[in-house]
Amino acid sequence: SRETDNLLKFDDQGLIPAVVQDFNSGQVLMVAYMNREALKLTINKGEAHFYSRSRRSLWHKGETSGNTQEVKEIFYDCDGDTLLLQVVPRGPACHTGKMSCFYRTIDGDEQSAGGGILDELAAVIKQRKKERPEGSYTTYLFDKGLDKILKKVGEETAEVIIAAKNPNNDEIIYETSDLIYHLLVLLEEKKVKLSSIQQELASRR
Ligand code: AMP
Ligand code: ZN
Ligand code: ZN
Repeated sequence: SRETDNLLKFDDQGLIPAVVQDFNSGQVLMVAYMNREALKLTINKGEAHFYSRSRRSLWHKGETSGNTQEVKEIFYDCDGDTLLLQVVPRGPACHTGKMSCFYRTIDGDEQSAGGGILDELAAVIKQRKKERPEGSYTTYLFDKGLDKILKKVGEETAEVIIAAKNPNNDEIIYETSDLIYHLLVLLEEKKVKLSSIQQELASRR
């Protein structure tokens, strides 16, 4: 529309890049281009539409895979030449089946650019529960079970309280990290996904 044309700079081919981010975790999922029509459809239908440069046609993300993206918010950047879509994905954003297209580093590592350290830690904890590697403290907690995990959550909570009385903040940083780690172990033990917490917090925005 005329309004978005005033805010946005489409390039000389009528395209604007759109960064797609998971609304709940913040994970960067993919980058694609939109033309004016794709943006209009995205706004009107609430699902991500792009312009495929290789197929030279409008592209409803998920039209064949079923992995549509429910659009929660659309931002534009300082100079209006890039969009940021916050979406709730129905499934993997990448045609390879990975959640994110950004699953390898320039050094040659297979490593997903996650939503952040909490998602990464939750993934490690999940793997420990499944594989139970020897010598792992997380394995020890899962072997002991729920009551042991709850005891640790209680202890770590008390330590946060004690640390908060200390004028030096080093201790509260350390103890809060301990508490968050044990809470993530508890969530995994209870089979509650971290994304459920992220969703609950986001719903309070
Ligand atoms: P989909 O839109 O998910 O049904 O996928 C349809 C086609 O779009 C796929 O076969 C791919 O060629 C292409 N495609 C899907 N997702 C991506 C992506 N994240 N980046 C580039 N191409 C994609
Ligand atoms: Zn810009
Ligand atoms: Zn991809």
